Amino acid sequence: MKARLKLLWELQKIDTELDKLDELRGELPREIELLQEKLKSLTETINEKKKQKEESLQKREENDDKIAESKANLKKYKAQLLQVKTNREYDALTKEIDYTEELIQKLEQENNSLADLSKKLTKEIEELEPEIDVLENELKEKKKELAEIDKKTNKERSELEQKREEVVAKITRADLSLYKRIREAKGRAVVPIRRNACEGCFAIISSQRQLEIRRNDKIHTCESCGRILISAEIENE
Ligand SMILES: [Zn+2]
Repeated sequence: MKARLKLLWELQKIDTELDKLDELRGELPREIELLQEKLKSLTETINEKKKQKEESLQKREENDDKIAESKANLKKYKAQLLQVKTNREYDALTKEIDYTEELIQKLEQENNSLADLSKKLTKEIEELEPEIDVLENELKEKKKELAEIDKKTNKERSELEQKREEVVAKITRADLSLYKRIREAKGRAVVPIRRNACEGCFAIISSQRQLEIRRNDKIHTCESCGRILISAEIENE
């Protein structure tokens, strides 16, 4: 049992060291992640606007074709109008002419709105694109900063990780899952007793419990925070 407790304490010490290395990285990993998210969303926005612009251009071209076709028809109808024989023919043709003129007007109006939209989108894209450069530069700087920190600590980190693997291999599955569960919830999973209190949450440990903990014959957890409590003997060995 004592060996099991010692392994858990060993693992905690390694993880504490690894946590310290992570602290050196500070907010950089989070900042990098945020910048990447921003960059992605901005790129998506710009691409969406470019797509809208492209669609509006296409629609305008289609409309232009329709306008040209309608204008040709109009010319034809007007020529036909000079040759009609009956009132019915005349009425039908003038109706057709009215309809075609309205259609041309409608398409031209639509094209004007599309041209306005295109202009608006172009302006928006022009305003957003420089922000991409700003974000990319910022991201590059942060990544460089982080790489410099990691360069200094990589050796230590890989040594700790190596040691950690060796320790973990010796820990029983049940002990490891208990450790992981507490660590995820509390950060530190294994703590010694300091001034008659749990070092994790500072709750006082009764002398009777301290006596039991000193026996090193089972895993004791703090009644108040749930962390694994170890005796001074385990701590100092
Ligand atoms: Zn506690």
